[in-house]
Amino acid sequence: MEKRIGIIGGGFSGTMLVRHLVEQQKDFFSISIYNSNADFARGVAYNPNSSKLLLNVVAGKMSAFPDKPNHFVEWCLNNGIGTENAQDLLAGSFLPRSIYGNYLNDIWKETQEIAKKKGHKLNLIPNKVSKIDKDGSNYQIHSESSNETVDYLILATGNELPGNPQIRNVDFFNSNFYQQNPWRIDFSKINKLEPILIFGNGLTMVDTVMELRENGFQQRIVSVSPNGFNILPHRNFNFQYTGRIKELNADKSLLELLSLFISELKKLNQFGISAEPLIDAFRPNTQRIWQTLTTEEKRIFMRRLRHLWGVARHRIPFSSYDYIQRERIANRLEILAGKVVDLKINENVVLATIYDKKNRTELHSQFAQVINCTGPETKIEKSGNELLKQLKLDGLIIQDELQLGIEVNDSFQVINSQNQVEGNMFAIGGLLKGKLWESTAINELRVQAKTISNSIISYR
Ligand SMILES: Cc1cc2nc3c(=O)[nH]c(=O)nc-3n(C[C@H](O)[C@H](O)[C@H](O)COP(=O)(O)OP(=O)(O)OC[C@H]3O[C@@H](n4cnc5c(N)ncnc54)[C@H](O)[C@@H]3O)c2cc1C
Repeated sequence: MEKRIGIIGGGFSGTMLVRHLVEQQKDFFSISIYNSNADFARGVAYNPNSSKLLLNVVAGKMSAFPDKPNHFVEWCLNNGIGTENAQDLLAGSFLPRSIYGNYLNDIWKETQEIAKKKGHKLNLIPNKVSKIDKDGSNYQIHSESSNETVDYLILATGNELPGNPQIRNVDFFNSNFYQQNPWRIDFSKINKLEPILIFGNGLTMVDTVMELRENGFQQRIVSVSPNGFNILPHRNFNFQYTGRIKELNADKSLLELLSLFISELKKLNQFGISAEPLIDAFRPNTQRIWQTLTTEEKRIFMRRLRHLWGVARHRIPFSSYDYIQRERIANRLEILAGKVVDLKINENVVLATIYDKKNRTELHSQFAQVINCTGPETKIEKSGNELLKQLKLDGLIIQDELQLGIEVNDSFQVINSQNQVEGNMFAIGGLLKGKLWESTAINELRVQAKTISNSIISYR
């Protein structure tokens, strides 16, 4: 019998799932892929406002296919980016995210051609899915333009907007002085005569500062985050750290892991080397390590170590790092450790009260606009995703204890409120953060897409 598959989300995850399914499946089947807008494949990450924003991973590690590691580099060469005799240079470069978006677009076009050639039915539905009902072992998908029943359902809903931080005057978040979506900044709203306040100081803050400057914004920018850590660049040490890393294969407590990390870091520091090679050596092990930690250890990690790990792990290309440092030296960008306590509107400006952690004092400043760069919201209740809220309310999905994603088993099949596996419903991408911790980067998502496709194809 024909398999009917519904995929909710047409970013990288949804696209690569369709690709593996149409490539591997021999018998006829139909796939419907739903996306909130008509722009399939690129998602928010690879459809930037500016062509200057760079990938934060080198080209050689950005193949969309887990079993074709050189696929992106080869695509670049075939499209006049880089040269054959300087392939290593290309593989080690941080290319613009818009180029990666073009790569995904090409994969998407090819995928549609493969589907057509093989006679698979591929429906692209550029509409938000508002509701999903369970119907026996099937699922009914409801969107503005369609209602359909499928045998398999995959949630690939991706990056939620950042959640609104806690401040006294929550009505502020409904005002025109606030932008919750840092990936689609509305520059027409910005009065260029006053400074801008940014919540957060991670990768999205860096992009936002660069975009603001590119759009002619010359005033000061202030970024506030709990610790105000310095963002780090990718330094190319040209060696792979090995040291005691093989010990990571054995299960360890959080305390043992921390002490291993610190002792190895001290050794590296003696040679003037910072933590990056050590972080890179930990990375391939982090998903497995996360799954061996107890819930209490995960809680401690989230409370005490998450921000430190985030800084060491999420690094930026040197050119972006230099840009940010220049901005700071010129006093055009200030990174404050603390908390935005309140935001009020007075005529045409925002009056902010900020707790400055270093000086233990409250600051009062005036801003033109506030932009939220705190990263995707993971708590379903707090997110704006009505579909996930409904699925949770109906008991079809549950959140993990830390509310980082939803509960799934080792094959990424969803676990429902009865603690049973929803055999035909899968989740991919950011929704797996509770299970895997690291579930955002291309090298993680490409493996998940292939794994889920293999499972669906193997079902009779
Ligand atoms: C700005 C940015 C830069 C990044 N840079 C890198 C990088 O350099 N290297 C790297 O490895 N990783 C990077 N990442 C991480 C990663 O590659 C992306 O997060 C990845 O693209 C996620 O893809 P996705 O398909 O899971 O989610 P998304 O791209 O968010 O796509 C999900 C889609 O689902 C749609 N959707 C959600 N709910 C519904 C619904 N109810 N109905 C219909 N459609 C719905 C959304 O509209 C969206 O289009 C970056 C991420 C971001 C945000």
